[in-house]
Order: sequence, then C-alpha cells, then structure tokens
Amino acid sequence: MSDTPSYILYDTPAEHVARITLNRPAQANSQDTRVLYQLNEAFDRAAHDDNVRVIILAANGKHFSAGHDLLENRANYAQNMSEHRTVFPICGFGCGGVQAQMAREEELYTGFSERWRNIPKPTIAAVQGKCIAGGLMLVWPCDIIIASEDAIFSDMTVTIGVGGVEYFAHVWEIGVRKAKEMLFTSDEFTAAQAQDWGMVNKIVPREQLADAALEMASRIARKPPFALKLAKKAVNGCVDAQGRDVAMQNAFHLHQIAHAHNLKLYDELIDPNGIPAAVTKSSRAK
Ligand code: ZN
Repeated sequence: MSDTPSYILYDTPAEHVARITLNRPAQANSQDTRVLYQLNEAFDRAAHDDNVRVIILAANGKHFSAGHDLLENRANYAQNMSEHRTVFPICGFGCGGVQAQMAREEELYTGFSERWRNIPKPTIAAVQGKCIAGGLMLVWPCDIIIASEDAIFSDMTVTIGVGGVEYFAHVWEIGVRKAKEMLFTSDEFTAAQAQDWGMVNKIVPREQLADAALEMASRIARKPPFALKLAKKAVNGCVDAQGRDVAMQNAFHLHQIAHAHNLKLYDELIDPNGIPAAVTKSSRAK
C-alpha cells in the first residue's frame, strides 16, 4: 500500500492539540476505503498520544466532505478490505449475498464513527462548505462542531433509496421533527439552522474557521485531561441511557434492508434513479 496517497494530514498546531485534516480536496474529501482507514489511524495516533488532550478534525478545500465515494468500485470492496487490517472482530468481507456489504459497513461506517465518538478526549470538527450524508458521520461523532458561515449539511439518502446514513444519530443531533424533515425532503440546511437546532456550537466567517477551532481547542486543552475524559463520558452516558446504541443499531439494520432491496431491484446498493447524473455506473473508476 506504499503507493497509496496520503489523504489525511496530521499536525500539532498548539500545545496538547492534534489536528487531523481531510486532504482529498479534488474529490471534495469523499471517503473511500483508503481515506477511512487513514482517518482511523490518525484518530488512533491522537488518542494514544498522552501529550494530546484535544483533537481537531478539519478539511482542506472548498467542502468538508461529499460523503462516501460513489465512484469506488463495489467489485473491489472485498479486495480493498482485505488489504487493510480490520479493526473489529468482524468477518465475511469476501462472502456473497449481503453479508460482505453489511460487514464492510459495520467496520468502516458505524464501527469507525462509534469508535471516534468514544475517544476519551474532546474532539472538535471544523466544517466548511458541503457536508453531505457520509460527511455527517465524521462530524456527528465529534464533541463540538464549529461551522463556517457557508457550511451546508444534508442527508439525501432517501433520494437514493436508503432511509438515512449508517450512523443514524439524526434524532439526537437535531430532534425528532427536524430529523424527519431532513430525511423525507433530502433538503440541505445551513449552519445557522443547524445551530438553531442544537447541532452546531459556533458559526464563524470562513477565513476564521481554523483559528476559531484552534482557539477553543487550546482553551479546552488547558483543563485537566482526566476531568475532560470524565465529563465526556458523563454526557455520552446520558444519551446512551436513552437507548441510543440500540436505536442506532436498529436503524443500521433497516439500512441494510434498503441495500438488499436496491441490489435486488437494480443490482446497485442505492437506487440509481436518485444518483446525480455526474456519478453514473459507466463512469465508475476501478
Ligand atoms: Zn450503506
């Protein structure tokens, strides 16, 4: 894998602060297998370094993330997975039926997002431009979300025949009614709306986004790290006590039914009638 490009940058811009930066701007930081494994390795590095107390997740380019890379060839999924050391005790990546796809999504999507959510250090997402579908699965696991004024969020998966992204945190992030509106309409919503609904902590002009994330990270990094860990576990424990984990697993399994349905109807994981014309089956890369 030595010829794999580096899609993730890692630096330590301030004392006790690590910054992980998505670096695939030409593809709007869309996420394929390589991107997600590299991102997980970067989170591991920051989590395991006792000198790091706060982690920033940022992105280079116009958009934070266009979501999952629909151009990644599904025929290569099993090979792509086997080229990486899997993180979770999951098997079946090379199996038939829907087993391989479910295993892949348990590892790469819900597995990684939940893992990042539980890192025992504060995490701050700095979001600009579009953050679509799978992009939400990078920012929702973070503890704090700072958005630039031009940030746009959406989960348009119903349009492509799926009932929501794999990491189904919508209800906790924006509430029941807005979650339904977001899913039913596939509409985009602004940073200001996201802040009104409680999903975004702070909005800043685009040119101030990096500094704003660094300023908050540096202030938090001066607090006792063990107290930060305990505070994070206490808050996360509140939503877990509401049944978050089981509810999200239920949604994930419904999501798998959607993939099986689309495979049967279209031989595609998603409904091709909802895919933008620029991303067609014939244009898919190897
Ligand atoms: Zn899926």
